[in-house]
Amino acid sequence: LTVLGLETSCDETAASVVRLKASGAVEVLSSVVGSQIAAHAPYGGVVPEIAARAHVESIDGIAAEAMRAAGVSYGDLSGVAATAGPGLVGGVMVGLAFGKAVALARGLPLVAVNHLEGHAVSARLAADIPYPFLLLLVSGGHCQLLAVEGVGQCRRLGSTIDDAAGEAFDKIAKTLGLPYPGGPALEKLAATGDPAGYTLPRALLGRDGYDFSFSGLKTAAARLAEGVTTETERANLAAAVQAAIARQLSERTEKAMDAYARAREGQPLRFVVAGGVAANGAVRAALTRIATERGFSFDAPPLAYCTDNAAMIALAGAERLARGMTDRLDAPARPRWPLDAEAAAANPTHL
Ligand code: ATP
Ligand code: MG
Ligand code: FE
Repeated sequence: LTVLGLETSCDETAASVVRLKASGAVEVLSSVVGSQIAAHAPYGGVVPEIAARAHVESIDGIAAEAMRAAGVSYGDLSGVAATAGPGLVGGVMVGLAFGKAVALARGLPLVAVNHLEGHAVSARLAADIPYPFLLLLVSGGHCQLLAVEGVGQCRRLGSTIDDAAGEAFDKIAKTLGLPYPGGPALEKLAATGDPAGYTLPRALLGRDGYDFSFSGLKTAAARLAEGVTTETERANLAAAVQAAIARQLSERTEKAMDAYARAREGQPLRFVVAGGVAANGAVRAALTRIATERGFSFDAPPLAYCTDNAAMIALAGAERLARGMTDRLDAPARPRWPLDAEAAAANPTHL
């Protein structure tokens, strides 16, 4: 199956062609990501209205470039996959409508892909990772632990009760005077700092369940940032914040791993981390360590597939298409769209 994927849910306009072979092997034929960083940087964050208009202007060119780079024509495609949510709905509508137009014009099946399902399969773009696996999804808008059983089959074990991990990185980076996007900038600054000088709160430590909380850390970091006077102190605080986020992610994931392992005694144990924050070296290192200690395999997507891209959307679409799971041309754009069926059923108006 050869699928064109389209991603426009936030501030990246992306298109990709992915081939999924009958053997399950995955080949990324192209992956083009057009970033809008320059357009949003003056505002210190993503401006939805600007994002939507930028998607309208660039989606056609980005899709054409992905097709050209892949060396395929529309006649070679088996289907079109477009992000249908969750995300900034003005942007989602652009990619979804473009995907519908291609599907209609070329008589191709459409797959309306959940952006989070894209992140969930992103590590499979570069490594053969069979289902099931335990997933930590850490992105700009989400922080969840999920038991992924198969294509489109997820059970949520826990999620953040306030901010997402990426959001925490971004907001704290802002209070440290770092430019948008904050996560990568904070990691760079932290590399020159020593985390030992600052004590930060350890939210939910020892608490039952697998939820996360980052708002206390955010408040504490903002207060400490006010007292920072030197570059060294600033780097040290960045290092402490990064260490605290990595520590909470691994402390909560450890508990989920232990429960997951108990429930699946004798079966292969696989752990995957995905989403923009999975690009962070300290986070990867902490998670690699706890996974290895517990006999889990560890996988994370290559850096280019951690943050938003269309290859993950194309692959999620191809996996659905292979099972006959396609969508109609009236598929809605969904600002909110929980990944697990139970949460979706509990909140049907936000499907
Ligand atoms: P969602 O997927 O929840 O809708 P999103 O698509 O905006 O949100 P992603 O593109 O997956 O999120 O990830 C972007 C987030 O990842 C941002 O919050 C960004 O700061 C963070 N991030 C990216 N690289 C790093 C890094 N090296 N260290 C820490 N955080 C990072
Ligand atoms: Mg982004
Ligand atoms: Fe994302």
